[in-house]
Amino acid sequence: MKNVKYGKCIRCGKTYEAVPDLTVCECGGILDIIYDYDYIKTRLTKEVLAKRDQRTMWRYRELLPVEESTELPPLRVGWSPLYEEPRLAEQLGLKRLWVKDDGQNPTASLKDRASAMAVAKAREAGAKVIACSSTGNAASSLAGNAAAAGLETYIFVPSRAPKGKVAQLMTFGATVISVQGSYEDTFELSKAAIDRWGWYNRNAAINPYLSEGKKTVALEIMEQLNWEVPDYIAISVGDGCTIAGLWKGLKDLHAIGLIDRLPRLISAQAEGCCPLNRAIETGKPWHPMEENTLADSIAVGVPRNAEKALHAIRESRGLTVNVSDEEIMAAQKLLGKTCGVFGEPAGVTGAAGVKKLCEAGVIGREDTVVSVVTGNGLKDVANAIAACGDPITIPGNMERLLEAFAEKGIAVK
Ligand SMILES: *Cc1c(COP(=O)(O)O)cnc(C)c1O
Ligand SMILES: [Zn+2]
Repeated sequence: MKNVKYGKCIRCGKTYEAVPDLTVCECGGILDIIYDYDYIKTRLTKEVLAKRDQRTMWRYRELLPVEESTELPPLRVGWSPLYEEPRLAEQLGLKRLWVKDDGQNPTASLKDRASAMAVAKAREAGAKVIACSSTGNAASSLAGNAAAAGLETYIFVPSRAPKGKVAQLMTFGATVISVQGSYEDTFELSKAAIDRWGWYNRNAAINPYLSEGKKTVALEIMEQLNWEVPDYIAISVGDGCTIAGLWKGLKDLHAIGLIDRLPRLISAQAEGCCPLNRAIETGKPWHPMEENTLADSIAVGVPRNAEKALHAIRESRGLTVNVSDEEIMAAQKLLGKTCGVFGEPAGVTGAAGVKKLCEAGVIGREDTVVSVVTGNGLKDVANAIAACGDPITIPGNMERLLEAFAEKGIAVK
């Protein structure tokens, strides 16, 4: 890879050749992929991108750690829509607001970006089997992207994972182990199994290439905004890989001169599980928390990528915001009704955070904000119905319809 220099430990600084099955440093630290920006600068310009018609995450190949000869995975990942939302901006009192709907990826979450990268690297490594543990979306995205590429998967999920995600796993033909325990227990079992059988490892924060896939969400946002940098980008945070990837993408663009400043990040967590935001707010090291929220994708009591995430939030002079389950449900309804965007609970937690920060007067009239919806609501219909209620249920009869309208005070126009 001419564009990549090496993998570098974020803890001790030791460097490693960027082989396809790279994992963590011998000191236990997580690796970061380091690029040759001088080389990339000469190849990836705004003009080059404007002429490129590939509408997937791979349109930024110069900034991605794959060999030029690598066959890319087949599913269409990335280039999700970025909608400007003037009515919601008005309601919240923001200058401008955009929603990036990453629930429109092939398996319906942002995790497809990391899983497509994992499949590309597994192919380079000559692996036939990939494994991971996940709160649900990393799992379903890996199962789908691997199935399309003809690779086998072993997937570990906590038994609380919503049915929609488990249905995806079974449909994609994964061998699924539903662990009766927390995400932490699930992760530890997957680690032991991967060590034992030598599968290609797609575990969050262990495989350093995953956040390189995730960073493409930032590259797209900036290109879709015609390189005009917003004041804030809001995203939900569990393990911390997504926000770290987002920041990496922004820093890459800054390093090659495609953007001239950096936005501030908004790190949104659930009140019932916010170990990373708590660390920022108290200025103390992070401590494990209970996984006490309905936003299952970010119910991560022991975040796997704490160091990179905390660094990203701090370096961006970011804001933290913790929202209750009620606020998450309200945001689900608000985004649905105002924008036609259907997010899962963790998917709308960033938007719930933006709303809360607007109401608190922390951000407002002068600010431009992008809120990333990280996963689709169809993955977890039980919580969507809990948030938005049941329909009018009557027999097929006009009289009963009129009665029902009268009862509910619905004046038909
Ligand atoms: C995984 C996930 C997140 C959080 O990403 P982390 O890397 O765990 O911080 C947010 N939303 C959804 C829908 C996810 O699946
Ligand atoms: Zn190290």
